[in-house]
Amino acid sequence: MKKISVALVGNPNSGKTTIFNALTGSRQKVGNYPGVTVEKKDGFFVKNDTRIEIVDLPGTYSLSAYSVEELVTRDYILDNELDIVVDVVDASNLERNLFLAVQLIEMRVPLVLVFNMADIARNRGYRFDIEALSSFLGARIVETVGSKEKGIDELVSTILDFENCSNNLARINYGAEIEKELSKIDSLIDQEHELLAHYHRRWLCLKILENDKQIISKIKSKHLLEALEISQQRLKSLYNDDAEILIADRRYGFISGACEETVKSSVESRHEMSDRIDKVVTMPVVGLLIFAVIMFVVFWLTFTLGSYPMGWIENGIGYISHFIESNWPASLSLELKSLVIDGILGGVGGVIVFLPNILLLFLGIAYLEDTGYMARAAFIMDRIMHKIGLHGKSFIPMLIGFGCSVPAIMSTRILENRRNRLTTIMVIPLMSCGAKLTVYTLFIPAFFAVQYRAFIMFALYVIGIVLAIICAKLLRSTVFKGETTPFVMELPPYRMPTAKGLLIHMWDNGRQYLQKAGTVILLISIVLWAATRYPRPSGEEMSNFKPNSVAAQAFKLEHSISGRVGRAIEPVIKPLGFDWKIGTALIGAVAAKEVFVSQLGIVFSLGEVKGDNESLRQTLRDNYDKLTAFCIMLFTLISAPCFATVAITWKETQSVKWALFQFGGLTILAYVLALITYQAGSLFIG
Ligand code: GDP
Ligand code: MG
Repeated sequence: MKKISVALVGNPNSGKTTIFNALTGSRQKVGNYPGVTVEKKDGFFVKNDTRIEIVDLPGTYSLSAYSVEELVTRDYILDNELDIVVDVVDASNLERNLFLAVQLIEMRVPLVLVFNMADIARNRGYRFDIEALSSFLGARIVETVGSKEKGIDELVSTILDFENCSNNLARINYGAEIEKELSKIDSLIDQEHELLAHYHRRWLCLKILENDKQIISKIKSKHLLEALEISQQRLKSLYNDDAEILIADRRYGFISGACEETVKSSVESRHEMSDRIDKVVTMPVVGLLIFAVIMFVVFWLTFTLGSYPMGWIENGIGYISHFIESNWPASLSLELKSLVIDGILGGVGGVIVFLPNILLLFLGIAYLEDTGYMARAAFIMDRIMHKIGLHGKSFIPMLIGFGCSVPAIMSTRILENRRNRLTTIMVIPLMSCGAKLTVYTLFIPAFFAVQYRAFIMFALYVIGIVLAIICAKLLRSTVFKGETTPFVMELPPYRMPTAKGLLIHMWDNGRQYLQKAGTVILLISIVLWAATRYPRPSGEEMSNFKPNSVAAQAFKLEHSISGRVGRAIEPVIKPLGFDWKIGTALIGAVAAKEVFVSQLGIVFSLGEVKGDNESLRQTLRDNYDKLTAFCIMLFTLISAPCFATVAITWKETQSVKWALFQFGGLTILAYVLALITYQAGSLFIG
């Protein structure tokens, strides 16, 4: 069968994914580009005995080498022998979108332009002379309404028919002075065989003059580099601007020239619905209130509504383990039974309980993104978040972090900038998640008088937030330092999202979570199961205990790896006021923070307990003081995130390094702060 390879490019929100979905339906898969946190989607369809393979490249405004998205898209186009590059253009915002098209034209790729959002363009009163525009640019243009699947058939036949009609791509004139420098460069690049073998000659000259780091770094000839320096200086002295800016200006000039003659717009369409809504939602106070309400709904959807299916899943797992428990053949080992029930089934449960949260959260986020509200939310929050060095959108993952870090870290996918995204991921575990609450609700009533309880709880939340702000700022000025791409705040018009788009979005994220993080979570949960169970005391050692008594359980835990590690680290955690029992429970807390409570119950020989257990509180009061209790909570708040978080960080950043950095960094931070608090507190009190 004949094959045609197609890549979809375009500005963010121009409708690429919608077109991609319309073309491929469900025949698609999602992955990642090697080494970077950028999602890769590909799919195919078959028509007229031809297999058309499509990649949905990351959305980008330009093809300079500033952001990962730009680089990924550019490298993909340059490194693959694509048959067709389809540039999806938002026709309602034509001039801005054509900036990318011009760069594609200069790369001399086999280009087809899709004028999507034709409906909105029409409503805004634009009329295009498609034929004239198409001959201006030298590429075929297909008008579509992606969300209604209009024009898709024409796009398909354009793709199939592509090789039969010749592209005659435009050549942009950069004016006498720039052209002069371009031809100087052109006369000096003959020896750059490697570059010439890869790239179109004129594009190469332009990129060199634009000072494109990626290309410049591959230049071998010193002579060329010197000449380049002179050219750039000459242009700068002529126009008082860098060559890069001059070239961009010329490109815009070319575009507005082309549109001048081919696009008609009627003026009445200025006051549209979108503008009117924007007046309200971007107002300083009212806008924030509306945002708060919308975020509350997303939060509620994710966690309150999500708790129902979560409950069903827990019950279902409980039912299955009960079933296995009561039907376990007497001839089979009891160890195996525990592995199946506590290790595997517990691990599977630990993976899928997050699924409802993730699906609902991504439904909410997809809705906000697709309607266009997300851009407004980012706009409102940007002033505040900018001070920390983060993007306005980072606010949403951090807020979700108060529920659970796992969906929160996944939701950082809404952030386009990698450094922003990594910084946000690193600090999310500092939010007091639902599981940490179980530790607070055990300790606070045990040690603090009624009138102080709310304050202590509040203080813990605030400490987490303040630390997150400090860490984010620190990270942004050290490890994740770097120029942020010049950011244009653009407010796309409001749109009605399609159900298909929402569902695909939601399911993609859920499936990726199960595939990627699920396996790791399952594995580690089995390891932790073994750590709290092995090695087992011998029968002789156990003979002093009544079988299955709470004292026997405590002894077994003490004997196990996690008990031993707890003892081994006692000297290290002693300066924080912690003993080995706390140490053992902290190791359990790595499985999930709520396990801290149940493990404390076991080491104190109280059997399985829940957070509101009065006898455990009494035991804690007998063993520790207020200061230690506070340090325990402080340590739980800051320390090593649970392993589901580690697993998701690993998978989302595609690097075990960042997961360990997060795990180690937060643990060290927790240790230092708890140490200072305990030592200073002891001095003060004692
Ligand atoms: P991408 O960022 O380029 O992948 O854009 P998406 O495919 O996610 O589309 C962004 C939003 O625009 C979604 O809500 C789509 O439903 C909507 N959309 C896509 N094409 C059209 C169109 O032709 N007309 C209208 N009115 N909306 C569209
Ligand atoms: Mg997309």
